[in-house]
Amino acid sequence: MYKIAVAGTGYVGLVAGVCFAEVGHHVSCVDIDEDKVKLMKSGISPIFETGLEDLMQKNYNAGTIDYTTDYKSVYKDADAIFIGVGTPEQPDGSANLSYIATVARQIAESVEKDCLVVVKSTVPVGTNDKVEQFIQDFLVSDVKVEVASNPEFLAQGSAVHDTLQAERIIIGTESKWAEERLMKIYEPFKLPIVSVNRRSAEMIKYASNDFLALKISYMNDIANLCELVGADVQDVAKGMSYDARIGNKFLNAGIGYGGSCFPKDTKALEYIAKQNGYELKTVKAAIDVNNKQKTMLYKKASKRLITFNGLKVAVLGLTFKPGTDDLREAASLENVPLLLEQGADIYAYDPVGAANFAKVHPEDKNGKGTITYVSNVEHALEDANVCFIFTEWGEVKAVTPENYKKLMRTPLVYDGRNIYDVEQMQEVGVEYHSIGRQPAS
Ligand code: NAD
Repeated sequence: MYKIAVAGTGYVGLVAGVCFAEVGHHVSCVDIDEDKVKLMKSGISPIFETGLEDLMQKNYNAGTIDYTTDYKSVYKDADAIFIGVGTPEQPDGSANLSYIATVARQIAESVEKDCLVVVKSTVPVGTNDKVEQFIQDFLVSDVKVEVASNPEFLAQGSAVHDTLQAERIIIGTESKWAEERLMKIYEPFKLPIVSVNRRSAEMIKYASNDFLALKISYMNDIANLCELVGADVQDVAKGMSYDARIGNKFLNAGIGYGGSCFPKDTKALEYIAKQNGYELKTVKAAIDVNNKQKTMLYKKASKRLITFNGLKVAVLGLTFKPGTDDLREAASLENVPLLLEQGADIYAYDPVGAANFAKVHPEDKNGKGTITYVSNVEHALEDANVCFIFTEWGEVKAVTPENYKKLMRTPLVYDGRNIYDVEQMQEVGVEYHSIGRQPAS
């Protein structure tokens, strides 16, 4: 059992902290946000993740996890400090490392015993070296502090499962001491561990995320061509998926990837390449395709309708994917303002993301158009002139083709997630546009 501190209680830090406690370590989670800390202490998770709140309550009651803003009291005698603070994108595409630097400084000023600092946040190659140097520069006690890289691969929506049953754990270290300590910390998880040097570990994270982004953009590119040549991208994907070299995951065409990772990590790696005098053409292509893909449906619908002005528009799904309340880089954030600018009257449904979306687009302040948040899909569809599907929530998938026909004023559906069978929509008389397939009218 180790005494573990976690800096940052976002999707990565909180889930890691809770899972470390779950496998038997003693964990203290640190955040600068006092409200968040209060909430967590009362057993409430600040983020929506299946199973997280139960594990928080179980471990808090057992005394194996605690939350605080007082970093000094926690860092001073921790065996390992995991850093899970944000590394957001800067305007030039590079990663903002200021949150990492702040934590490094706080660690240097607090530790009073030998400690392993583990960077979980996604950081440019070489950052761990700099963090180690930075800590040495500011270290106040005569103790050993080493830095290890341990990038995180969880997917939002299945974060707890992805941590407790991770496909692999990557650890990047520069000494036997650091490698052994990190191996020991992960031992109770009983998962495959890949041990490499720090720079390779940092690169594995970007190379993996960008490969997935590339796969999505590739399928979206193929989908757009399918529409032009009369093929069906879902059939194409099915045919491709039998090839073990290709695999059967991440072959779904749609309105592009979002979230806090793929958009940021593709731009960051492109930036790293540029800094090193290299042009990363494949990743650049993935970014370009994704940028265009996000408003693909809006453009299609704009061609079909004269205007959205005064139309009742149903928007189903706001989050960047199901299972999360996260809106970062969600397609809805690009499309809703375009619709509002045109004077659309939007009725938006999302089972968990509406409250966050309302912070950006409140019901009462929206230029020409209006937006109303509704608590069920039927209410959004009632009397609508057109419907956009941005997120494939179970509640959205449960809407039958007949319901669109019955509830909408004009059954015109633009589906960014290819939920429905084109023929079924055709049979019930829904005009149906999706991605990479022929429309039904
Ligand atoms: P987040 O924005 O949800 O959370 C960051 C947290 O850090 C916030 O609660 C913030 O208040 C806190 N914080 C900031 N400064 C602090 C300080 N000095 N001390 C303590 N806490 C501090 O971020 P996230 O989505 O969890 O991502 C964190 C990192 O992990 C990023 O580098 C991201 O790229 C990477 N990552 C994210 C995911 C994901 O799905 N979200 C997956 C893998 C990797």
